[in-house]
Amino acid sequence: MPELPEAEVAARQLRERVVGATVQDCWVGRGDIVREGLSSLEWYRQAQITGVERRGKSIILTFTRGEHARFLAAELGMTGLLIFRSTPTKHPQHTHFILHLDGGAEPEIRYWNPRRFGRLSLLDQAGLDRYTARRFGYDPLTISHEEFLRLLGSTRSRLKSLLMHQQVIAGIGNIYANEILFRAGLHPDQAANQLRKKAIAQLYGIMGEVLREAIAMGGSSVRDYFAPDGTEGQYKRRHLVYAKTGEPCPNGCGALIRRSVGERSSFYCPTCQRGGRGGSTKSLESPLRISVKPRLQQ
Ligand SMILES: [Zn+2]
Repeated sequence: MPELPEAEVAARQLRERVVGATVQDCWVGRGDIVREGLSSLEWYRQAQITGVERRGKSIILTFTRGEHARFLAAELGMTGLLIFRSTPTKHPQHTHFILHLDGGAEPEIRYWNPRRFGRLSLLDQAGLDRYTARRFGYDPLTISHEEFLRLLGSTRSRLKSLLMHQQVIAGIGNIYANEILFRAGLHPDQAANQLRKKAIAQLYGIMGEVLREAIAMGGSSVRDYFAPDGTEGQYKRRHLVYAKTGEPCPNGCGALIRRSVGERSSFYCPTCQRGGRGGSTKSLESPLRISVKPRLQQ
């Protein structure tokens, strides 16, 4: 959390309100929040924001000065937010980075993160290419059905681990992985390559549906998440299994939702989601060798 839908909502709000604005000043409260490129900070003064994109769960801002472009990649981690100055926060002391802007609809973008798991990176084009190649696999909203079929057929990885493996499929975390698998009637520990083509096609369709519906509803406000303008996402009301241990299965099968504790909790119905055996945990220790060309959408 935040996952793909929340990052997408944030990117869209930022695009609408700050593209075209010029950076007047940058303020860094904690230097360790910037993983890379802190020494290039001066370059960003007087640069114009010319684009905002989402990759996986990250938000990437493009800045232009004359012929040159540089980037700011924001990882929100568990608790991070990019917010506008007018957006109220309970603990303003957790603001670690501010871009003061001129000429857009918002005077500031703030990076707020109480638990500081997320990081910012200030990157040139080569740095961005390295950054995206290292981190992001296929985007679940743009991967083709054929690519998805090939991906799942090529590994014994457990389905849920695979969906959450950012270098394979970038953007899905624990909330949406659980919700997608429940709707697809597939057990989180099922081996990917044991699925029939029909089940993979169904999973592919449901993955897109869940993520698009969540984006349309502003994402899921779990814990302290909200969008840059302070609005809460409403998709939490559609959650069927996430954090619903012990509640009756929404399909009405009579079973109760279970929680299994692995590296991340799985929430599932033991009756409606069959096929929990055979998935390998080992294959994820060495990331799949899948060539994904990094691409920054313009
Ligand atoms: Zn059930």
